[in-house]
Amino acid sequence: MLHKVLEIRGLSASTYVLRLERNGFSFKPGQCVNIGLKDSGVNREYSTYSGIDEPHLEFLIKEVKGGTVSPGLRKVEPGTEVELHGPYGSFIIKPEQIETSSFVFIGTGTGIAPFHSFARSYPNLDYQIINGIRDINEQFDTQDYDPSRLTCCISREKSDGFNGRVTDYLKQTKIAKDKIYYLCGNQGMIYDVYDILRNAGVSGDQIFTEAFF
Ligand SMILES: Cc1cc2nc3c(=O)[nH]c(=O)nc-3n(C[C@H](O)[C@H](O)[C@H](O)COP(=O)(O)OP(=O)(O)OC[C@H]3O[C@@H](n4cnc5c(N)ncnc54)[C@H](O)[C@@H]3O)c2cc1C
Repeated sequence: MLHKVLEIRGLSASTYVLRLERNGFSFKPGQCVNIGLKDSGVNREYSTYSGIDEPHLEFLIKEVKGGTVSPGLRKVEPGTEVELHGPYGSFIIKPEQIETSSFVFIGTGTGIAPFHSFARSYPNLDYQIINGIRDINEQFDTQDYDPSRLTCCISREKSDGFNGRVTDYLKQTKIAKDKIYYLCGNQGMIYDVYDILRNAGVSGDQIFTEAFF
């Protein structure tokens, strides 16, 4: 399907939000789609960033240096059409758990994208987000989260928040065994956090993962 680009919102030198017209596209928060330049024959997966009731579709994208798709999408002029296929994937919240369960969302970099979609879609969701980033200026759209629900772990710069990686943060935090955990981002973090959670007694069927690369 073709969707017009409405806006490219630059958030930092390396990250932007791609806003597309909705065109009646329906998805479940946390699912991903494939996006590519029209007729290029190449596309990549991107997780939904916007909420299900929003009039447009948004994606939080890191521009990978030398990458085939992510740098080109940033340069697209508003009004241009891009190809979108999907939605795909099962990194979603079961409807019966939305109002009844407590969630911990752990993501690195743009791995916060599906959690933003959850927060925008389900206003009563009981969640905590632990977001691993390198620099202070990678705290994106923080106004969209209740501040008491968001912890940023900043690994490369000194800040007022937690200084270190998400794994450092988890090792010094009491891990609740009854919560449901969603991990999203690079595979190395996912493996490490999975082990930390399992060693703390969290059951494997309470852990869901989505690896970006
Ligand atoms: C299910 C799924 C959902 C995804 N959702 C998102 C999303 O919401 N936002 C997003 O920014 N990306 C997301 N990705 C990653 C995205 O699909 C692409 O891999 C990424 O945009 C690079 O594509 P490219 O064509 O620019 O680079 P390529 O030419 O494909 O590759 C360049 C290299 O960059 C590496 N790479 C990929 N992503 C990153 C990254 N974030 N940081 C550093 N290196 C990376 C790849 O492993 C590869 O070695 C998702 C991936 C999957 C599998």
